[in-house]
Amino acid sequence: MSTLEIRDLHVTVDEADGSVKEILRGVDLTIASGEVHAVMGPNGSGKSTLAYSIAGHPKYTVTGGTVTLDGEDVLAMSVDERARAGLFLAMQYPVEVPGVTVSNFLRTAKTAIDGEAPKLRTWVKDVKQAMDDLKMDSSFAERNVNEHFSGGEKKRHEILQMELLKPKFAVLDETDSGLDVDALKIVSEGVNRSLAQANPGVLLITHYTRILRYIKPQFVHVFVNGKVAEQGGPELADSLEETGYDRFLTHA
Ligand code: ADP
Ligand code: MG
Ligand code: MG
Repeated sequence: MSTLEIRDLHVTVDEADGSVKEILRGVDLTIASGEVHAVMGPNGSGKSTLAYSIAGHPKYTVTGGTVTLDGEDVLAMSVDERARAGLFLAMQYPVEVPGVTVSNFLRTAKTAIDGEAPKLRTWVKDVKQAMDDLKMDSSFAERNVNEHFSGGEKKRHEILQMELLKPKFAVLDETDSGLDVDALKIVSEGVNRSLAQANPGVLLITHYTRILRYIKPQFVHVFVNGKVAEQGGPELADSLEETGYDRFLTHA
């Protein structure tokens, strides 16, 4: 049983004109193994900034607060150390990796995280199974990472990583965006399989409630203006479906 704890997190970003803008203004969130937390909120409320800050993206400067994984200081870790500690951040490798196939990338990541190479026979079987489950053609394994991937292929590749790397915590930023209903179901089922098999804590960032029909959160946090404005159970997502974010914005 692990705990990812975010306490009073403040984050700024350097704007193109040289000014500094505070985006996260004191975020508190605690996620335990096996829990799904949905972070919902209007565009520009800072949801992706939260994800990037946990990932250690250099553009985002933490000016206050803490992020700990079982008491270990995540903010002091390099991006690689965060992955080895068991954090999976779906946007961690969003760029094209020329000349590196999906297959090589997955094996390299698995080896780096576990500290030893996976046993080849079981690994090949696991990769094939996970790809079949996600309805990915086997030729996908020989494509270069993110090169000419469609939106849907990027999302499936993210969930493929999550299933194979078995992190303690996964941060999924708008995994639902740009997916049609069939793809959304396939991707959601992948997350649910990961939950059943490896019991990670999941931070599911989303603007829309539709993915929550497939992945059931126990906790819902409404993010407005760089902090959690309200939290509750799944019923909070249902009420957002009806009222939208207006009632939060008028008081922001
Ligand atoms: P969300 O994911 O909720 O839509 P973001 O975290 O992407 O929100 O953005 C929150 C605010 O921070 C926005 O006003 C956005 O313009 C600003 N912002 C985020 N990242 C950067 C960046 N790299 N440079 C400048 N401004 C940024
Ligand atoms: Mg504060
Ligand atoms: Mg975003």
